[in-house]
Amino acid sequence: MDSAEFRKRGKEMVDYVADYLENIEARQVYPDVQPGYLRSLIPEDAPQEPETYEDVVKDVERVIMPGITHWHSPYFFAYFPTANSFPSLLADMLSGAIGCIGFSWAASPACTELETVMLDWLGKMLKLPEEFLAGTKGEGGGVIQGTASEATLVALLAARSRMVKRMLADDPEKHEADIISKLVAYSSDQAHSSVERAALIGGVKMKKIPTDYKFSVRGETFRRILEEDKEAGLIPFYFCATLGTTPSCAFDRITEIGPICNAEQMWLHIDAAYAGSAFICPEFRPLLDGVEFADSFNFNPHKWLLVNFDCSTMWVKKRSDVIGAFKMDPLYLKHDHQESGLVTDYRHWQIPLGRRFRSLKMWFVFRMYGLTGLQEHIRKHVALAKEFEALVQADDRFQITADVVLGLVCFRLKGSNDLNEALLKRINNARKIHLVPCQLAGRFVLRFAVCARNTESRHVQVAWAHISQLATELLHQPPQ
Ligand SMILES: *Cc1c(COP(=O)(O)O)cnc(C)c1O
Repeated sequence: MDSAEFRKRGKEMVDYVADYLENIEARQVYPDVQPGYLRSLIPEDAPQEPETYEDVVKDVERVIMPGITHWHSPYFFAYFPTANSFPSLLADMLSGAIGCIGFSWAASPACTELETVMLDWLGKMLKLPEEFLAGTKGEGGGVIQGTASEATLVALLAARSRMVKRMLADDPEKHEADIISKLVAYSSDQAHSSVERAALIGGVKMKKIPTDYKFSVRGETFRRILEEDKEAGLIPFYFCATLGTTPSCAFDRITEIGPICNAEQMWLHIDAAYAGSAFICPEFRPLLDGVEFADSFNFNPHKWLLVNFDCSTMWVKKRSDVIGAFKMDPLYLKHDHQESGLVTDYRHWQIPLGRRFRSLKMWFVFRMYGLTGLQEHIRKHVALAKEFEALVQADDRFQITADVVLGLVCFRLKGSNDLNEALLKRINNARKIHLVPCQLAGRFVLRFAVCARNTESRHVQVAWAHISQLATELLHQPPQ
């Protein structure tokens, strides 16, 4: 393909994408295909000779679309949202064209510098404490990680390294392996599975703190377990608190947990993967109170802030803690500029070396929407969730099973887990809308998450009418 053909095909692709997103609600949100469906639709081997672009593009509707779960359909209410916006799609195209690998400042100064400034812009939108910002000579700052899972792992590894160094400084006779075998990390019993995985990868113990009736970790419960562990000779070093848990969007009490972590010199990391975006609205910012106690904070603009995947923003108060854990300096990666607020070598802040120019997406989205436009998007989703909650509450066959704080509604039929499982099965088999379940206090619960950017009240009303109809059918014909 030469540049003349690229111009033509690029314009056609933009039309295809615009049509796809404009008409997405006409597509079935959840596919009908069986595992292995795709292999039989394409050849066994890659082609020997080049094919034409027409041939490739024809196969998109034949091979790919039948197997797509349409996450941007307004009838998609599963998991949590994943962001999608036109400015972000365009910025990603430019990022692909520049195609730089920004592992150090020198490897592409704009890639590094825009990222640092965008993380400051976003940090200010969230009203993060000053220490998390890079400014021109700050000790803190932000970085784009691929996912919240990576941010949790990076924070855990930095915390491990910081604690080991501290213990060795106190007593040089100690052995590193011995210290690591006694380290213990903590999270909520509602934390995302990636948190437990971070501990597995980091080779440390992790304990899950039981939550209260609102699915939040409380300071008192944490303190009790912490004291027992210290008695037993363990070394508490890391707490991963969740703001907006995946099952029910619950909030750990960081104003209670934070002071304990600080007093124990433990690392406090906050995972607000979904909920973080809402903190740009003054009315939701109180949910972030207590962030001042944290060493690191992370959320996913790629979930709810209209920046397409991947873009998980992480801030640390002391960049030296992270860099201290990961720094490697082979000669071929060295350059003449010293690390400072102005010069950041992001390769020291992450696990891979290579990194894409992801901050372009943030820059385009922030400028094209403005803070006001982003706040409107969040508020619209929260209002739709409240609308759905009211519909559930008005039907006395159903109950709400967790506070509706943001864009997620947890609900169930009053009755057995089997009954609710049967309802979910009917919903997903009908293919009209898509939901996933969760377990809350031993109960099977349905999650209704407002996801797509273009979800409107009418979609929520249609979804509820459909759920209610399937419930009526089910209650006439309950599972055996
Ligand atoms: C979605 C989610 C994650 C995982 O996010 P990735 O970016 O896919 O790793 C982690 N924690 C919470 C609370 C989440 O909601």
